[in-house]
Amino acid sequence: MSDLLANLNTPQLQAVTLPSVHALVLAGAGSGKTRVLTTRIAWLMSTGQVGPHGVLAVTFTNKAAKEMTARLSTLVPINPRGMWIGTFHGLCNRLLRAHYREAGLPQTFQILDSADQLAMVKRLLKNLNVDDEKYPPRELCHFINAHKEQGVRAAQAEVYDNYTEKRVELYAEYENQCNREGVVDFAELLLRCYELLQRNEPLRKHYQARFSYILVDEVQDTNKLQYAWLKLLAGGGAKVFAVGDDDQSIYRFRGAEVGNMRDFEREYAGDNVIRLEQNYRSHGNILTAANAIIKNNRERLGKNLWTEAGDGEPIRCFEGYSDLDEARFIVEEIRELVRDGVSPTQIALLYRSNAQSRVLENELFTKNVPYKVYGGLRFFERQEVKHALAYLRLLGNPDDDTAFLRVVNFPTRGIGARSLENLQVTAHQMNSSLYNAAASLTGKAGQTVGAFIRLVETLRQETAGLPLPEVVEHVIEKSGLAQHYRTEKEGQERLENLDELINAAATFIDDEGAIGEGGALVSFLTLASLEAGEHQAGEGQGAVQLMSVHSAKGLEFDVVFITGLEQGLFPHENAVSEGKDGLEEERRLMYVAVTRARRRLYLSCAQTRMLHGQTRYCMPSGFLDEIPESLLLKLNKKAAPAPAYPAYVSFGGVYAEPAVAGGLRVGQTVEHAKFGVGVIVASEGRGADARVQINFGASGMKWLALEYAKLTPV
Ligand code: ATP
Ligand code: MG
Repeated sequence: MSDLLANLNTPQLQAVTLPSVHALVLAGAGSGKTRVLTTRIAWLMSTGQVGPHGVLAVTFTNKAAKEMTARLSTLVPINPRGMWIGTFHGLCNRLLRAHYREAGLPQTFQILDSADQLAMVKRLLKNLNVDDEKYPPRELCHFINAHKEQGVRAAQAEVYDNYTEKRVELYAEYENQCNREGVVDFAELLLRCYELLQRNEPLRKHYQARFSYILVDEVQDTNKLQYAWLKLLAGGGAKVFAVGDDDQSIYRFRGAEVGNMRDFEREYAGDNVIRLEQNYRSHGNILTAANAIIKNNRERLGKNLWTEAGDGEPIRCFEGYSDLDEARFIVEEIRELVRDGVSPTQIALLYRSNAQSRVLENELFTKNVPYKVYGGLRFFERQEVKHALAYLRLLGNPDDDTAFLRVVNFPTRGIGARSLENLQVTAHQMNSSLYNAAASLTGKAGQTVGAFIRLVETLRQETAGLPLPEVVEHVIEKSGLAQHYRTEKEGQERLENLDELINAAATFIDDEGAIGEGGALVSFLTLASLEAGEHQAGEGQGAVQLMSVHSAKGLEFDVVFITGLEQGLFPHENAVSEGKDGLEEERRLMYVAVTRARRRLYLSCAQTRMLHGQTRYCMPSGFLDEIPESLLLKLNKKAAPAPAYPAYVSFGGVYAEPAVAGGLRVGQTVEHAKFGVGVIVASEGRGADARVQINFGASGMKWLALEYAKLTPV
């Protein structure tokens, strides 16, 4: 026990050992909030105030939940498996799985990730003959999610003009479609769970009595619905312990409200507000820079961080001629750091927009530096993996139209687009799923679609009772997916990913006892949906970490590179155009980025950048000016670096080079129907012989003949 409390400073110790009260820890980055929260759980348990059963802890990512669980098991001699530690989505999913009937869901309900949701909305607009230019699908998704996050169903949505009326009508249609298919989107997980608890008194009472301690990390980023959900669960007398930092609130665009933290302070914490001001993460110069940046924000609860660590190294700045120049500089530095003994996993490359990662990835790839991208092309979102998952989803729930459409004609079975359109019209009229409506198809369509239905039925029979990895393997083989990729030219890597999926199923341990109801397959599919954004195939040891600033929240690294510090990019132009509030949110994001660094921080920008197919001429970010000059070490090269660069590099006219062909240039970002988005890195040949080499990131490097590869600039 004394070990547990050793190495805590006075206010940390006070927070950890508070008696049974509501409390708020309001403190800056790296001051030990997450550590205090974890230690408090351990302390409560080891002093016998609560058992593992009575704790509910909300973390920001699944990764954080795993770390917290692992950490706990080192602090207290209990087995924390089966404890309710997870993200809002994860915990709501768990509750809904356990009470699917009461929630009005099929036992095997599936989760739509954002790409699935978009696909469903597009399909819906098409079926209803709605003009998707007037009602852009993405905006509609946003409209729906924003309402759900406010706890508002279509039936209660406010209508103030014809346009909104139509959108609300589409929201209602979308709800019906989801119910018909037995699928839920991310926001629905929360709303459904909230409504269930609100409506069902015995269930609510049960959970209110069960959890006597509720702990919340990153409380500044909760939205209205999440806050209401917490209040509901705490309604039976549970004590809520929340930790957060208003300066790190970065999800306003998703409905997060710093106001929740103030409400929490008023409604719950009262006098039990503890502030931590000592930072244990970063060296002095880094912290001074972070403080200097954030003090330009008006809307702050106000706090100042200090550290006992020395000033440390100056902050390194680099201004490149182009984004490629910037990438080269960064990769050179990384190689040097690694040579000097820094572990690559302790090096993070942060960017404001995911699109920026391509040029960095390309350079890392070329120089053979292993790297891992968070939130890039995600393992569970790859085409081949999604195909396999779609078959698996149909086994559990044939009414899942999204899964049905994904694989009904993959591998091809001669089912035409026309037949599918007819099928969709019929299903719509019958108010049934595509799977059910298929029986009514006649003629050739009846035969081909019928064969697909029989395939799914056969797969279901053949896999009944098999262990999970064998189910996955069987489906990949017998669905024809494996054969399809075996014959495809570039199929090797996809086959490897499918093997990886079998491996993932084998290592998947259903450790969530309480949700095992739908069986291992359903739990596995759930993991695939919930972790889509965080998982990466071949999660390598020894890889440099690439991620957006948003996904770096809560993490720390010895060395951090913040890249693309340019006006319009970071701060982002969309946010800037919103005025002061937008800019302040960007500044908080910058503060989050800077405070990830322990020992060394690099800030870099480029004078020209290729983004979304266009060369942009950039000014350095205004945030750079907010850092005192005395902290900075400028590393710019003196002379133009032309000779060091291969002749084909072409950026913003700095190194002139004619177009490859068809208006494409080296350095340009393009989209390929099969491989996704990539960057042209080299070219050869002219006219009909022209070929380009493209780095498709996770899909690898490919040489493609321009005449055949349909490439669209993005
Ligand atoms: P963020 O706001 O970024 O989420 P945080 O406030 O949650 O940060 P932690 O991640 O808990 O901060 O802690 C930052 C680092 O400081 C961690 O490496 C943690 O182990 C260390 N740390 C925290 N408190 C102490 C302490 N009293 N003594 C030594 N190290 C500490
Ligand atoms: Mg934290």
